[in-house]
Amino acid sequence: MAPVVRFAPSPTGLLHIGNARTALLNALFARREGGTFVLRFDDTDLERSKPEYAAAIEADLAWLGIPPDIVVRQSDRFALYADAAERLKAMGRLYAAYETPDELEFRRKRQLARGLPPVYDRAALRLTPEEKAALEAEGRPPHWRFRLDHRTVEWPDLVRGASHVDCGSLSDPVLVRADGSYLYTLPSVVDDIALKITYVIRGEDHVTNTGVQIQIFEALAGAAPAFAHHNLLTTASGEGLSKRLGHLSLKGLREGGLEPQAAASLAVLVGSAEAVRPVATLDELARLVDFAHISRAPAKFDEAELEHLNARLVHDLAFDEVKDRLAGLSVGGGEAFWLAVRTNLTRVADAVQWWSVIEGPVTPVIADQGVVAKAAETLPAAPWDASTWKRWTDAVKAATGAKGRALFMPLRLALTGLDHGPELAGLLPLIGPDRARRRLAGETA
Ligand code: GLU
Repeated sequence: MAPVVRFAPSPTGLLHIGNARTALLNALFARREGGTFVLRFDDTDLERSKPEYAAAIEADLAWLGIPPDIVVRQSDRFALYADAAERLKAMGRLYAAYETPDELEFRRKRQLARGLPPVYDRAALRLTPEEKAALEAEGRPPHWRFRLDHRTVEWPDLVRGASHVDCGSLSDPVLVRADGSYLYTLPSVVDDIALKITYVIRGEDHVTNTGVQIQIFEALAGAAPAFAHHNLLTTASGEGLSKRLGHLSLKGLREGGLEPQAAASLAVLVGSAEAVRPVATLDELARLVDFAHISRAPAKFDEAELEHLNARLVHDLAFDEVKDRLAGLSVGGGEAFWLAVRTNLTRVADAVQWWSVIEGPVTPVIADQGVVAKAAETLPAAPWDASTWKRWTDAVKAATGAKGRALFMPLRLALTGLDHGPELAGLLPLIGPDRARRRLAGETA
């Protein structure tokens, strides 16, 4: 059966590279197996969910090359959740509770003081209909708790292997708040059932939820999908990434001109058995997705590594892959220019800097008047090509006796105004005889 998977962000902030990991593991698994990738916006919190975040998330997925096959919004689906809640009530699995947060806190402290686990004591299950009516008459609307089976829930996790959650040690979770709004737990299960999700692939911060959600799946649908809980990414110093703090947002990376494959390669490969390396296409990356070889420990990653991967990808990009972007940056020079500069770039947009060195104006630095004057005299006649540099420098060497750095550095400084940069053999034909002659004469050109 072809898999159906979903990525289910709350549109309450920008996605970061850790969220990209979840999205990519879902989308690439679906792509490889001929399945369906659903984007589900978990936007039941109507106050914190914002259309601009939802739009940014769709733009991020498109940028990564994994646009969803289907998009759903939980805010359109409240009727389904209400129906599921009614079914659970009818089964006796969802019960009304009336405690205020203060009362719960007081009980929790008392339990802790007595050395008991701070688990909800199910006092609400013992209320008589008259007591409930009295509480409601007092103006206390109920919130609704799911009555857990006190047993250990087990599942074969695709990442973590045989996994279990002891539901006997958990409080019955609140699924519906007193104001009628839903917590994440129930809508997620209802949608996974309705959309026939076959694999739930998400971060390991959801493992405890899985114990509870498997019981809800079993109550509503008889069976649960398969689960894969991947490790989470942390910063190099071990802190968790937070959507709220805008850590390495995909939007920021996208707008900063990072190659999406750099972000994708890092997000998928870090913390797995595969070496982190630049992978040129999503299909290749999809072949490397292997849940069983994702590490159980949190994966540290480094922003510098992202730059490094990006540079390595850029160094191999063919002209055809960048020509539209170069045109957009008003960079000319065609393929010859791209091939001359690409290995000096970290980002494609850095090409602008080298194009301005070709076009000028460049203020030359004349470091060795003798060498530069001889170079001007021996400048070969047009047309120039890739062999011109060698012919020319051989001639300057023969005339001056300068060699190595003493020969090349004065020429570089005069032609580019800089002491570093791409191979001059490639740049020289693009600079051309007119500009070269003027720069060698010390003119800004
Ligand atoms: N909205 C939840 C989150 O972002 C989804 C978790 C899930 O995949 O079930 O954590």
